[in-house]
This record gives sequence, structure tokens and C-alpha cells, in this order.
Amino acid sequence: MSLRQTAKRFEDKLKKIKVICFDLDGILTDSHVWWASEEVGFNRSFCIYDGYGMKMLMKAGLRVGVITGGDSVSVHKRVNQLGLDFCYAGNEDKRTAFMDLLKKYNVKAEEVLYMGDELFDMPLLRKAGFSATVPNCSEEVKEIVDYVTIKESGKGCAREVMDLVRYAQGIIPTHEDF
Ligand SMILES: [Mg+2]
Repeated sequence: MSLRQTAKRFEDKLKKIKVICFDLDGILTDSHVWWASEEVGFNRSFCIYDGYGMKMLMKAGLRVGVITGGDSVSVHKRVNQLGLDFCYAGNEDKRTAFMDLLKKYNVKAEEVLYMGDELFDMPLLRKAGFSATVPNCSEEVKEIVDYVTIKESGKGCAREVMDLVRYAQGIIPTHEDF
């Protein structure tokens, strides 16, 4: 099934989405971290396709950001570089951040898309209006989500989900938009 066909299949849910929320490690990264230094802490690598997808959707008026259990310079550098709307970092219990997000943007859970790959993401994956994960995560996470991406962690999996939103909502930017 093509991405456009998948977008059609989930159209009802995807059309409602106003806020897009990503877990960071294992979604926006390939899950690997490496030690840099005492000042910098752990470093990460990010996928530029995901970054551009986030910019496109923010430009189209959606709110995009991260809720991550990790917290180091590399997290905040990437968030700031992309100009993301929100970043909750450093707490593996993500429920408080999610509730705060609903209040902040005055949206219902059904208007939020959440993508995460770990067991502690499951409460949010259950609450969100549309949920997605990666093929390389634990089985029980895959069992509860709406969609498992074709692409793996940190290799454009977030862009794949954002493209579903774009297709369902008819957001097709031209190059001149940028
Ligand atoms: Mg993760």
C-alpha cells in the first residue's frame, strides 16, 4: 500500500491532527548515543528529512515538538535549530507533559499525533488521536498503535508519518513556499 493510500485509510483521524509530538531517541534518532565530553554529554545524529518535514508542517500552521526522556545539549541544539514549538525533556513519565500540551494549545487528545518507540511511550500512544511507531521496537508497542512505519528509527520514520498528515490534510507545499 502506498503512503497516499495509507493516508486515505486513516483520513478521518489524520484530518483532526493539530499538534504533532515526537519522542526523540529512537524516533528522531537511530537510538544510538555516544559520549562527547563532560560539558556536552551524549551526542546524537538526526535525519534531515524529518527536520524538513517538521518545518513544512509548522509553516502550514500545525504545532510540532518533542517529549523526550533524554536531556542533553544535543537535544536542545536540534530543537532550537529547527525552531520547534515545544520541547519537554528529561522525564520518562511523559503523561504530565502530554496533559500540559493539551492545555497549552487548547486541543483534545484526538487532535494530537504521538510517535514513540518505547514501553514508557505507551500511555501517550494510547491517548493520542493518531499513534505511530517504528518497525524495530518491542512487539507490545507495535500492537497498540495505529501505524507502524516502513522506515526505521532515525531514518526518515518521522517524515513518513508527517507525509501521511500532509496527504490527508492536503498540505503540498511548493518550493516557492520556502
Ligand atoms: Mg524513544
